[in-house]
Amino acid sequence: MKEPRYIKSNLKSKRIVFEEEHPIRWSFMKVLREYSTLKQEFAINPYVEVYKFRDNLYCLYSESLDGAGDPWMYVIEGPKKAMLIDTGFGVGDLKGLIKELIPNKKLIVVNTHAHFDHAYGNAQFERCYCHEAEVERMKKTNNDKIWDYLFDENGKPIYTEFDRNDLIEYHEYEIVGVKDGHIFDLGDGYEVEAVHLPGHTPGQCGFYDLNNKTMFIGDTTGIGRIFEGEPFTEFCTVTALRDALVKLKPRFDEMSGVFPGHGMLDQTPTVLQYLLDTCNQIIDNPLNFDKEIVMERHGTVQKMYKKNIHQGTALRYKLENVK
Ligand SMILES: [Zn+2]
Repeated sequence: MKEPRYIKSNLKSKRIVFEEEHPIRWSFMKVLREYSTLKQEFAINPYVEVYKFRDNLYCLYSESLDGAGDPWMYVIEGPKKAMLIDTGFGVGDLKGLIKELIPNKKLIVVNTHAHFDHAYGNAQFERCYCHEAEVERMKKTNNDKIWDYLFDENGKPIYTEFDRNDLIEYHEYEIVGVKDGHIFDLGDGYEVEAVHLPGHTPGQCGFYDLNNKTMFIGDTTGIGRIFEGEPFTEFCTVTALRDALVKLKPRFDEMSGVFPGHGMLDQTPTVLQYLLDTCNQIIDNPLNFDKEIVMERHGTVQKMYKKNIHQGTALRYKLENVK
């Protein structure tokens, strides 16, 4: 693969393996990271860039440690408590960084889903909330061996250079499942609602800040693998994502911005309508895809399809994950 146009960075991590350069996303990230005045860096955590997108919203950028898309984490400061949405890979002092951003407020930690790039930093905290359909995966995929796959047999990082000593030591933490519609109270009536947006994983969940009307959607552009014997696999389908978007549709117009787990921030809510349109097109004719891809991930070869999303990337799915 051709190396993408380099983006200047002071981060302590340095990518070895680059992902494909998405035409619009790459330019957005290049301008944001190199030229925007929003960027802040903190010595306490050299793996994170901080961007303030609202008076009380910090968007935390870090590089992927496993060659995939660079994940976003988000911190909402409420009147009495703050909320952290996703915890990244777990390299660098995330807890300490948040304490510098928001001193003296209790932190509620939530995960959009259990994937490594969103939940491997959970062990820095005592308790993490996720959708109830994600609890099993969260338990299964979080242990003290989670970072081993990032290194070769000589202990050298495979995908992204970073200092192994900067991984915060793993410890057990409490995982609490919540239902669709669960309200988190950040004090004085400041509420954030859990919005189940499944498909990518069974319990993949968005979080809707009812005060700012900002929607944090997590990962919604790939329908995930179904694991043998796993509960709630009926949620790993294009249809489940479509149904969730139909339920959310009456609220699209009131949203002030959509914040995904990767890529461009503060998107207009129209992107949710475009995603819904793509789901419907796939359900109408699953073989009417734009691209066929063969992907090797963690030693297994998977055949998948991609259907383009208008003005966006594409929705990735397998034929067995449509209905
Ligand atoms: Zn994911």
